Amino acid sequence: MNSSAMNHQHLSNRIINMGESATLKMAQLARELTAQGHKIISLSLGEPDFDTPDHIKKAAIKALEDGFTKYTPVAGLLELRQAICTKLERDNKLSYKATQIVVSNGAKQSIANLSMSLLQEGDEAIVLSPYWVSYKEIVELSGASCVFVKGSIEQDFKANAEQIKAAISDKTRMLIFSSPCNPTGSVFTREELKAIADVIAQHPQITIVSDEIYEYINFTGEAHVSIAEFENVKNQTVIVNGFSKGFSMTGWRLGYIAAPQWIADACVKMQGQFTSGAACFSQKAAAYALLSDMTPTFKMTEEFHKRRDLFVRLLSEVPGFKVNNPTGAFYVFPDVSAYYGKSFEDQKIENADDFCDYILYKGHVALVSGDAFGDPNCVRLSYSLGEDDLKEAVRRIAEAVSKLK
Ligand code: PMP
Ligand code: GLU
Repeated sequence: MNSSAMNHQHLSNRIINMGESATLKMAQLARELTAQGHKIISLSLGEPDFDTPDHIKKAAIKALEDGFTKYTPVAGLLELRQAICTKLERDNKLSYKATQIVVSNGAKQSIANLSMSLLQEGDEAIVLSPYWVSYKEIVELSGASCVFVKGSIEQDFKANAEQIKAAISDKTRMLIFSSPCNPTGSVFTREELKAIADVIAQHPQITIVSDEIYEYINFTGEAHVSIAEFENVKNQTVIVNGFSKGFSMTGWRLGYIAAPQWIADACVKMQGQFTSGAACFSQKAAAYALLSDMTPTFKMTEEFHKRRDLFVRLLSEVPGFKVNNPTGAFYVFPDVSAYYGKSFEDQKIENADDFCDYILYKGHVALVSGDAFGDPNCVRLSYSLGEDDLKEAVRRIAEAVSKLK
């Protein structure tokens, strides 16, 4: 037996069977190529390009100076959980007690806590597709399986209540989706969410995991709608949210849930064995962020809105690109399957992975394959870059695809 085979023997099936995060992998590859001197434009990572607003940074510095450098309660500082309750009242007209809030090391951990607490072998989780990459792997880690319910590009990528109803079985324990959606940028309307709520209310064993991390990045002109606003499912719904997107605080690692008490208690127990509470000074700054001036957040959204208009217009002019019109988040998810079967020199495009490789190595633009999000006809482009870079990225993409015959 060679040594690599021996090493492999010591890994669990759990990790061997787990897919790597396609978003993080592509972002890393783009960083490596950049370090080698290639001028890569990375549209791969879902991360706002804006710096964290100054007043939030100052609050963290003050927290450090004031000695907030220790463990916090596992569920988070009471001050932050109370600020989250105030935010939920203010922005969503939803009433929660501080004990129902659990702060985690990013919304990613919030979702992992939920999955590990609510799901087990034999259970099913309905995942609305296209879906954010990590839902599938996190659900499967719990032993449960995913049942994907797909929204086509013609449906603006939004699966409807009838489709969800048809996917429910006596094993279904969870429904998970994001709105605004990563990777499509689609936003569910109040009517669409109400129809879904009416279906799920008939099945009290199902918990809705409503990922609202892009809440503030919404161009519909309507207020954000949380499915938890519907009384008939409030006690079956967990809101997932965080600071990464709306406050441009990806590196601060802060997410949270607002949940029925029994679910919040389970997540605290889970987190208490894995990581304890999130970083203390990050939490102090986040409490301040929620209750202070939100102008920087609204300005970022305005900027994303302008970029969306530009980027969607330019991408729609690329032959063979079927482009959706996202109304939230900062992603576009075009169908590029018109290029499957085409080649340039010895490089043949069979699928979205090949397409992304081709655009990366020939066009020096990093995208993420739609495969990782449940739609192999599409690719995801994140427009969290300035307008000049976005224009140049589309120019490079158009030039690269024009060579495919
Ligand atoms: N949910 C969605 C839909 C996301 O796009 C992300 C990526 N930022 C997360 C959750 C996790 O975010 P974080 O862990 O940075 O809070
Ligand atoms: N959520 C972002 C994305 O989809 C960040 C990367 C990740 O956590 O997967 O790109």
